[in-house]
Amino acid sequence: MKLLVADDSKVSRMMLLAITEGWGYDVVLAEDGAQAWQILQQEDAPQLILLDWEMPKMNGIEVCERVIARNHGNPPYILLLTSRTTSDDIVEGLSKGANDYLSKPFDSAELQVRLQVGKRMIEMQTKLNATLQELTKLASHDALTGILNRRAIMAALPKEIKRVERQEQALSVGMCDIDHFKEINDTYGHLVGDEVLIEVTKRMQEVLRDYDLLGRYGGEEFLMLTPGSTTHCTSVYQRICNAVSAQPVNIDKLSISVTISCGVTRYSVEDDGEDISNLLARADEALYQAKDSGRNQVAFKQPISQT
Ligand code: GH3
Ligand code: MG
Ligand code: MG
Ligand code: MG
Repeated sequence: MKLLVADDSKVSRMMLLAITEGWGYDVVLAEDGAQAWQILQQEDAPQLILLDWEMPKMNGIEVCERVIARNHGNPPYILLLTSRTTSDDIVEGLSKGANDYLSKPFDSAELQVRLQVGKRMIEMQTKLNATLQELTKLASHDALTGILNRRAIMAALPKEIKRVERQEQALSVGMCDIDHFKEINDTYGHLVGDEVLIEVTKRMQEVLRDYDLLGRYGGEEFLMLTPGSTTHCTSVYQRICNAVSAQPVNIDKLSISVTISCGVTRYSVEDDGEDISNLLARADEALYQAKDSGRNQVAFKQPISQT
């Protein structure tokens, strides 16, 4: 594990370097607080820090304060080293953000175990952060297809509306549904149906740009949010339909023709204001129209003020 040793005394630094390297730490040295702070801001900075209190340019307490003010989700573990020993000093050091405190001259066995405590804390924090990240992803993404789930795409919708309003852009909303998907399930089974869902999602994603959003709205129904000009949206949904139907989906020895229908509408400040249910109802009506007109196609429904 990387360990940052910050001490302005060369003798102390060299002594700390020798003993901590002996304990297996990968040691980075800093000669003062400013240098320590600079190292801490680098990518892949040490997470474990042995920090001297009294240092020129920036003292250890100021380094602690900056670390706290940065409010990082993955803060380093700071063991403050100092010759100050009054209880007021300890209170100050720990209240400014140090995790632990050791008075000079220190006992090397004590330093070793206190660093081990820090190492354990960091390892625990790293595990917790990874779990949290995984849970956050699970909560917002669909387990089968990996795209946003219904909750996440619905949460994105009002945000996208605000964003396009700010940027004076248009926002198209598309409801896309696989045609006769029940037949695919009934003919080939549910597992093959799942594979088809995954492949259709992949084909749709390939057409989308970075700022378009795609979410699984329900079983075989997808909600898409595509900001940009009206002409762009006309073409993007048609391209999505084409991309899905271009080639049959091959699963094992099966070759399955798949098509989708898309109902598209545009968000309108004049008609909808913030009413998202109107917007979705309009996209849904457009989808029914696309299905009624023979499927494998895109239908548009303009906002009321545009008709
Ligand atoms: P239409 O063209 O009118 O949309 O017909 P459809 O058969 O696609 O529509 P319907 O609503 O009758 O059937 C949708 C089917 O999608 C029924 C349901 O079992 C299936 N389905 C929903 N979610 C999943 C899933 O996660 N995996 C699989 N394999 N099937 C699913
Ligand atoms: Mg000093
Ligand atoms: Mg369907
Ligand atoms: Mg459906």
